[in-house]
Amino acid sequence: MMITDTHTHLYSEAFDEDRAEMMTRALETGVSRFFIPAIDSSYTEAMLDLEAKFPDYVHLMAGLHPTSVKENYKEELAHVEELLAKRSFCAIGEIGIDLYWDTSTLEIQKEAFRHQIQLAKKYQLPIVIHCRDAFDEIFEVLETERGEDLFGIFHCFTGNLEQAQRAIGFNMKLGIGGVVTFKNGGLDKFISEIDLKHIVLETDSPYLAPKPFRGKRNESAYIIKVVEKLSELYGVTQEEIANITTQNSKDIFSI
Ligand SMILES: [Zn+2]
Repeated sequence: MMITDTHTHLYSEAFDEDRAEMMTRALETGVSRFFIPAIDSSYTEAMLDLEAKFPDYVHLMAGLHPTSVKENYKEELAHVEELLAKRSFCAIGEIGIDLYWDTSTLEIQKEAFRHQIQLAKKYQLPIVIHCRDAFDEIFEVLETERGEDLFGIFHCFTGNLEQAQRAIGFNMKLGIGGVVTFKNGGLDKFISEIDLKHIVLETDSPYLAPKPFRGKRNESAYIIKVVEKLSELYGVTQEEIANITTQNSKDIFSI
């Protein structure tokens, strides 16, 4: 069984004490493809270190996370552009709009999001979207950027069925993680109405650990709990969930 974690912050300080052991646990579980979203320039070195240690397994993205869009966002975007000019990345992410932590930066978040979508188009890369309390604002930007050259993943998808269908309409796969195992998460009620060809798996570790680890540090090995839950909800084997979602990740990232 080959499982793909399309969104995991393996370079996080949360893994500084036991990163190698954590990777071993993931590999033993069958997770052998790790897609690594960026946050801002303060993590670039840690991401490159991670890649140097696990070159066969990890694939780096470049991007500026919406909660890191602050007064200096133009410098941060220039850093992203510099990276893209220098070497290859698997995607532009994570990018988007987050109105949970800060609504005062909405306008510059939108600008940074749009700018990075255009970078993705320039480099023919997928985007990985972070959306928190901001579906309408995200869809508004996507609407103006709609096209064959716009594609990617709606990371940590937590919307309703209608929002899921709308996201898919923009050539987005839905990144499904620990939330699908939560009792009050809502996703479990309708997700099986979405064809598996639109689904990819993710942990967002160290955040959003699935049941029964909810509230603890998440790690990529726990993605098996998401596989188990989807297998139950879709009524197909865990192998099928792993295979189809891995294929979907290959279609998106071309890796
Ligand atoms: Zn993330």
